[in-house]
Amino acid sequence: MSTVPFFSPRLANAGVDLHEPVRRVLASYWYVLGSEVLAFEREYAEYLKVRHCVSVANGTDAIELALRAVGVAAGDRVAVTANAGFYGSTAVLKIGAAPVYVDVDASTLTMSCDQLQRALHTYSPKAIVVTHLYGQLADIEKIIKVATDAGVPVIEDCAQAHGAKRGDRFAGSYGALGCFSFYPTKNLGALGDGGAIVTDNEEWAGRLRQLRQYGWSTKYHVAINGGCNSRLDELQAAVLRAKLPQLDAWNDERRDIARRYNAAFAHLPVRCPSSLGSDYVAHLYVIRTERRDELRQFLAQRGIAAEVHYPVADHLQTVHDGGAEANALPVTETACSTVLSLPCFPGLAREETERVVGAVLGYFDEAGHS
Ligand SMILES: *Cc1c(COP(=O)(O)O)cnc(C)c1O
Repeated sequence: MSTVPFFSPRLANAGVDLHEPVRRVLASYWYVLGSEVLAFEREYAEYLKVRHCVSVANGTDAIELALRAVGVAAGDRVAVTANAGFYGSTAVLKIGAAPVYVDVDASTLTMSCDQLQRALHTYSPKAIVVTHLYGQLADIEKIIKVATDAGVPVIEDCAQAHGAKRGDRFAGSYGALGCFSFYPTKNLGALGDGGAIVTDNEEWAGRLRQLRQYGWSTKYHVAINGGCNSRLDELQAAVLRAKLPQLDAWNDERRDIARRYNAAFAHLPVRCPSSLGSDYVAHLYVIRTERRDELRQFLAQRGIAAEVHYPVADHLQTVHDGGAEANALPVTETACSTVLSLPCFPGLAREETERVVGAVLGYFDEAGHS
């Protein structure tokens, strides 16, 4: 019996000629911060309808540098959600700042605006990181309003939400800064690590260009503290340029799979993604069930890979030694024990999604749970 993989880099990269961009870079003998990087930054900014894109080495660096750009420093607090894989927390801790955790909305599993309002009041954070989890745009318009009233900048974590939009407005264009990862499994993925920050603010863009390269103002002149070496290389930029024109089609393909799953599972005692519109790019297709672990095992026995994003809430990670700051996070904690991600990626064949559907229905039939 063949297996249904959780993700396939071969299938996800099918239909794009990646040899040509690689050959182009090889022929140029220029590997770091060159014309491919400049062109990708321009093309990605154009795609997102924002003014500036500053590429970096990965998505976690993108969040860290974005926080530094808006002035977050050691000892500050930053509001983040606790169900998003600890990436935001990693960036906050790297600076020496402290994450304060905000619970999520039960329907989208993205930051709850009401809970954010309470956290702003209680903790006075210096910035807010909003994660568009699983490819679902958060309640970002409302969050921006609340944050603006409090005078606190919003950083969007768009690592799972390339191309997600409401109306004409893309994930990454709402907040002060939008952060992206181009890790190979993301909706726009490189052949290695990569990341970017987008913004309309020229001053922040300039600061980010300094921060990603040792804090330099010009070569060998160090102007600001907190700099590091975090650059996208020419090869990855060339590959991303070749893939960007396919992003919308790939997102449609992901959403089609999600649509099929949602329809098939409508009568089951599971909770499905809340949106199938343009504000959801189906980076992950996540259902929620009390019987998560049993279902996952049942699927594994039938050759279907399912994963958990994410099993441990940030505030309960042992690194905090029990000292994380948070109001109660009941929705987050329930989510961590019930979420299950099913295969959903471009190139996943119709028969394979049918197999996933059949197996999930089979589980609830057999177990008499429906
Ligand atoms: C992947 C991811 C990141 C981190 O990106 P890297 O490039 O792996 O550092 C950050 N946030 C979210 C939500 C992610 O899924």
